[in-house]
Amino acid sequence: MASDGRSKRFSYEDMTALLAEKGCRLTEQRNIILKSLLSFPLTFSPMDLEKRLMKTDPALGRATIFRAIDLFLEMGILEKIHRESGDDVYLVGSVGHHHHLICRVCGEIRDINFCPFEEGIHEIMRKEGYSEGYHRIEIEGICGVCKKVSEKTQDEAEGGLRSHGGKVRQLH
Ligand SMILES: [Zn+2]
Ligand SMILES: [Zn+2]
Repeated sequence: MASDGRSKRFSYEDMTALLAEKGCRLTEQRNIILKSLLSFPLTFSPMDLEKRLMKTDPALGRATIFRAIDLFLEMGILEKIHRESGDDVYLVGSVGHHHHLICRVCGEIRDINFCPFEEGIHEIMRKEGYSEGYHRIEIEGICGVCKKVSEKTQDEAEGGLRSHGGKVRQLH
């Protein structure tokens, strides 16, 4: 289930603690934006966030929102995810080293809470004499649910064609 990954995402308390830890003041504006982040269970674009905030707090300007996103990224509260489509999206962060599995159809995100790449990466670094490595790897694919939906649609389309052809009508 997807919920096992999502349950580890930062809560409001986690996020304010992170800001405090880094000596960053929780201004009223930042607080509003921070709370709004929690309303996105999946990834969001800066545009999504702006749209949501426009409804509740129209006084917040775009520049303020973008500055807050940058700050939260820097603080590790948000994670930036590069999508194959070319658009970067954001996600409320979670604790510890992890990777993401992203469905390119519905946008579902699952956290992989262990590192399947560690051994290979260590090997490369050791060979090249590197230390203190850091990596970010995202895996994009099509989730099981979307795969089933697309298969079903395909079946229906083919079924439709067949019945138009007439020849295989007697099959049912
Ligand atoms: Zn999907
Ligand atoms: Zn890793």
